[in-house]
Amino acid sequence: MKCPKCGSEDLEIVSDVKGKGASFWKICMCGICGLSGAGKTQTTHYWVCKQCGHKFKA
Ligand SMILES: [Zn+2]
Repeated sequence: MKCPKCGSEDLEIVSDVKGKGASFWKICMCGICGLSGAGKTQTTHYWVCKQCGHKFKA
């Protein structure tokens, strides 16, 4: 895996959780609806270049 911008291999992986609302809302959903709060979020992994700061999908 290389940075597409500068070609550096000094990369760091980060996770970005996307879903319906923030984690606060998810907690509310879990509290009110029980099981229905699960499975609504999607976790996306990104690579971040330590050299130039460029962020791109894995
Ligand atoms: Zn880079």
